[in-house]
Amino acid sequence: MPDQSTPFPKSWGLHALAVLTAWIIGPAMAYFGYYGLGSEETVIVVLSGAALLAGPMLVVAAPFMPRPSSGPCPLCGAKMYSFWQAADALLVCPSCAACATASNETLTLLPMTNVADVPAYPAALPWDDVVENPGKTVAFSAQDVAMDKLSELITRNAGVRVIDKWPPGCSVCGAQATQSEAASAEVLIKGRALETKATLLAHGIPHCAAHSNGVAFGRVEFAGSPTEGDAFGLKFRSHAYREAFRKLNPHKFDRQANGPLKIRTA
Ligand SMILES: [Zn+2]
Ligand SMILES: [Zn+2]
Repeated sequence: MPDQSTPFPKSWGLHALAVLTAWIIGPAMAYFGYYGLGSEETVIVVLSGAALLAGPMLVVAAPFMPRPSSGPCPLCGAKMYSFWQAADALLVCPSCAACATASNETLTLLPMTNVADVPAYPAALPWDDVVENPGKTVAFSAQDVAMDKLSELITRNAGVRVIDKWPPGCSVCGAQATQSEAASAEVLIKGRALETKATLLAHGIPHCAAHSNGVAFGRVEFAGSPTEGDAFGLKFRSHAYREAFRKLNPHKFDRQANGPLKIRTA
């Protein structure tokens, strides 16, 4: 497959927008930090102190942040963005999930031969109602502990959902597979009124004697506009194996499943 590249210029317009946003959020952090210092709760005082320090720092640092970039996906043409990601960060197209990297204001598709150190290249799940389980939050007060209990009660168990269609060969190197493994994740299922717990099970992932852990569940971040949501999906170490998996399991990411729009931070 030939290298496919598109222009990915840094934008003064996006930079101005980002600086303005920081100049609104920064003073707000300082304001709430200042008033939070008077709280009786130690945790709130600590968080408030941090906000009181970080707010003004954000205001001062924002103009000096690197400029964000934007340009068309090399594969499908959908608009992609990069906001302060590391230079070699993986940029996933919000429309077709093509994997690319940016350098010298150019967006280039990742070679098929790429193998990441940890599962990174995403594929969509067969279900469009799965959302990440954010896990237990720290209870700040007696009232919040009661809310935790309540959400335990309204959270029912929906059993196990299985993914078991895998391309042949090791999920990392593609060589003859000699064994298999599983990966799992506890997620929330979006219902009409209640959120339901479920376990996702990736079962029978093939691998060779030399490799394991080629596939994992996880949050997928897209190089879309900062107001677009993330998704929950499967991630692969091998780019080629991910493509083979997507041919077998041609599902689409449903970023709406993860709820309201979120501002992504660097
Ligand atoms: Zn694309
Ligand atoms: Zn292998």
